[in-house]
Amino acid sequence: MSDHRSISVFEIIKVGVGPSSSHTMGPWRAALFFIEELARNDLWQSLQRIEVILYGSLSKTGKGHGSDQAIIAGLHYKHFRVIRRSEWIDLLRVNKACHEIALPNGGHYKFNPDEDIIYSKETLPFHPNGMTFRAHTATGVYEHTYYSIGGGFVVSNASEEVGKNMVKTPFQCNSGDDALRYCKQLNVSFAQLIRANEHAWHNDKSIDNQALELWRVMKETIYRGLLSSEEVLPGGLNVQRRAPLMLSKLIDLSPQSANELFDHLRGRSFDFAQINTWVSTFALAVNEENAGYGKIVTSPTNGASGVLPSIMAYAYCFLPNISERDMIECILIAGEIGTYFKKGATISAALGGCQAEIGVSSAMAAGALTSILGGSPYQILAAAEMAMEHHLGLTCDPIGGLVQIPCIERNAMGASKAITASNLALNAEDNTSKVSFDEVVRTMMEIAQNMSAKYKETSEGGLAISVATPEC
Ligand code: SF4
Repeated sequence: MSDHRSISVFEIIKVGVGPSSSHTMGPWRAALFFIEELARNDLWQSLQRIEVILYGSLSKTGKGHGSDQAIIAGLHYKHFRVIRRSEWIDLLRVNKACHEIALPNGGHYKFNPDEDIIYSKETLPFHPNGMTFRAHTATGVYEHTYYSIGGGFVVSNASEEVGKNMVKTPFQCNSGDDALRYCKQLNVSFAQLIRANEHAWHNDKSIDNQALELWRVMKETIYRGLLSSEEVLPGGLNVQRRAPLMLSKLIDLSPQSANELFDHLRGRSFDFAQINTWVSTFALAVNEENAGYGKIVTSPTNGASGVLPSIMAYAYCFLPNISERDMIECILIAGEIGTYFKKGATISAALGGCQAEIGVSSAMAAGALTSILGGSPYQILAAAEMAMEHHLGLTCDPIGGLVQIPCIERNAMGASKAITASNLALNAEDNTSKVSFDEVVRTMMEIAQNMSAKYKETSEGGLAISVATPEC
């Protein structure tokens, strides 16, 4: 699905909540939009009950991905950016007891998720992640259909994005070729080009602050994942958290804060095997937090939210002469590369399988790493191309419909491919790649269109049906 409006890097990389950007954050945002729409139409006073119909992939794996829990919170008009997990759990508990939801104006309406969330066998033609919100009011029925198209983006049934102002950047980039042309024409680095376009939304100070805040949340997520006392992830698969165990094997220290951990790592030297283990451990820590409904940075999705933070932490902790300022550049480059996949292909696993999640995140991270290591615009895109090339065809077949197996380990794999792709690109001359970045984006989309629906976040094929599981 092509989307050629200008997209800010901060729409691709943003603070989110686990476990899924398309199946948790998307339905959550749709519920918020629907409640706002009812307010605009003056329907809060007469609202009696809401029903939600989930279609396609949302219906098939929505339960495992927490779509029902997200919808309940969204219908309470609570935003995932600010709610704490304990408050979220309280909302679920109260709703389970009384089957009612309170509106901000003090009114109440009926919502029993066991009856009012309908898991349809149908798939809507526009996108596999469709959902219809239906309000029963004293004066009639009001409904709206939304689609969660990946990365937390939501479009309405008219296919326009909900809640977005259309902004046009001065140097419109929809592809790698556009970026290379503008870098050459303006004689600027890739990061400078992206910053010039971001000025359509934000000034320099705001760009820096937002990027550093994302980096801060990434470090906090890594820290929480490493120090978590929860042994088993929710959902019934009995998946053990591994990051805390790996941490205890790596260092004999119990850091009291994320900064203490990162300062400790930056002040020491490690061999290749140790660094490799740290990168995997960072990735597991983030994605275990994601699977545990924790706060993460969506980049570009939640299932793939461990790749970019682990690469940024790798560079920050283990590579020489890397500073906090470089983390800003990482966010800009990674986010921009994500926009090219969103515009030219997809970042939705329900449309493209896991190549659209881990593949895209690995490409984003490879480009970011190459940029802060001094790569040219061409080398940055060559690294991103390679990282995606070696994820082409990757299926999405999560066991039990949970974002756990293969998802958590897959983040470590995506990170390791990003490092290799960056190394290879930095050691190659400009204009020597046989496969261009834009060609790999097109190829990925072609594979997405031909991939069986069994492997596109439906849990109807692959590992999801080959592996015997307990009832989740
Ligand atoms: S298999 Fe990949 S795309 Fe599917 S839920 Fe897991 S991380 Fe996301």
